[in-house]
Amino acid sequence: MSKIYDVVIIGAGPAGLAAGLYAGRARLSTLIIEKGQDGGQIAITDEIQNYPGQKVEGESGPSLIARMTEQCVKFGVERAKDTINGMELQGAVKVLRSAKAEYQAKTVIIATGAFPRPIGCKGEKEFMGKGVSYCATCDANFFEDFEVFVVGGGDSAVEEAMYLTKFARKVTVIHRRDELRAAKSIQERAFKNDKLFFMWDSVVTELNGDGLLSSMTVKNVKTGELTTYEADEDDGMFGVFGFIGTLPCTGIFADTGLKLNEAGYIPTDEDMHTNIPGVFAAGDVRVKSLRQVVTAAADGAIAATQAEKYINEQ
Ligand code: NAP
Repeated sequence: MSKIYDVVIIGAGPAGLAAGLYAGRARLSTLIIEKGQDGGQIAITDEIQNYPGQKVEGESGPSLIARMTEQCVKFGVERAKDTINGMELQGAVKVLRSAKAEYQAKTVIIATGAFPRPIGCKGEKEFMGKGVSYCATCDANFFEDFEVFVVGGGDSAVEEAMYLTKFARKVTVIHRRDELRAAKSIQERAFKNDKLFFMWDSVVTELNGDGLLSSMTVKNVKTGELTTYEADEDDGMFGVFGFIGTLPCTGIFADTGLKLNEAGYIPTDEDMHTNIPGVFAAGDVRVKSLRQVVTAAADGAIAATQAEKYINEQ
């Protein structure tokens, strides 16, 4: 019989690590299971400036997350690198299964986060890693002195486009409207950047190339006009980065009885309870209005505190 943890947390982004910190400090036996690297989406974020108490000059996501991980370790939280692919959440003891192990817990905190939404154009899958990317921090250096296009108009698109100007010769943001969604302070910096250009009212419909991405068709949504852009002859390729929001990582919860909304996010009350007793959700994976590191961390703290309360009441 394997150990029954007080709390098993799925996901080691800011929500999962904050939950781990609070559960560990409450002396609950706690395990965090993460299939990849710690940090979730901020593992690929170049600069964070708005997490209260962080270094004022700004710091990278991995730098901030390393300290969160260290805090969990300090308070005795156990770690497993594993991919959960099956579970029973309804009973008093929750069971989580991977290909190699089975984990048991009195409570589960789901902090699986979200992943980049695909651009949704023809050829996107084919050119992934051959010109198409969703992570500037990971792939910007492949485009040193090349031309790059960024799809989207929110904070991520504009901030990552600015980051890409440090590498690319020219960066053009392609946005489906004629006005950005990004915060005004971010827009102000972007409009001052002389390597950054904007293509308004436009969506990418098709990507092409011979092995590497070298051709893109863009549709003007107001006029319906289609324009095809070819890579500069000397370059032979260009980059397209997609930053058009995220989709929730909730596929593994299908058929578990866990309630999801129509977009696949987990609805909770303000104390992070899902519809299943003893199962909580925290961070980007839940239905909420603001997905930031600070709100994810707050969710994690609440979820762990509620998990402790639930255990005490059983
Ligand atoms: P977002 O705010 O949801 O913005 C998504 C952008 O993509 C919007 O401009 C949207 O256009 C566009 N879009 C959506 N679907 C599209 C489609 N199918 N085709 C073309 N364009 C499409 O997403 P985000 O920028 O990733 O930000 C997510 C959250 O993280 C937000 O809460 C944001 O504030 C936060 N964030 C904060 C920071 C920061 O504070 N420094 C940095 C990054 C992210 P419309 O505008 O027309 O809807």
